[in-house]
Amino acid sequence: MNELDSRKCKDHACKLPSPHEGNCFLDPLVVIDYTNHQGSRRVRRIAPMKILFMASPPWHPAPEWLLGAIDADDGKHKFFPMRNIHSWKAEA
Ligand SMILES: [Zn+2]
Repeated sequence: MNELDSRKCKDHACKLPSPHEGNCFLDPLVVIDYTNHQGSRRVRRIAPMKILFMASPPWHPAPEWLLGAIDADDGKHKFFPMRNIHSWKAEA
């Protein structure tokens, strides 16, 4: 669970709110247009961490690709099903 411990930023250039889960993030954030499992669609700013395939995700009956990322709004690590990401672009 160390990866998910909240931590204060050590690098003043970090793009995430302090404290946040995961490591500090210095690269451009990514803006996604995303619909969550409750059907709420909106634009979010995220720091992508990894992409993985889960054979039986607890929240969905079928295997799927997931994007693990830190949400730049609240600093929390979340999984975003790739099928629900409508668009993707890096921030300038
Ligand atoms: Zn940080």
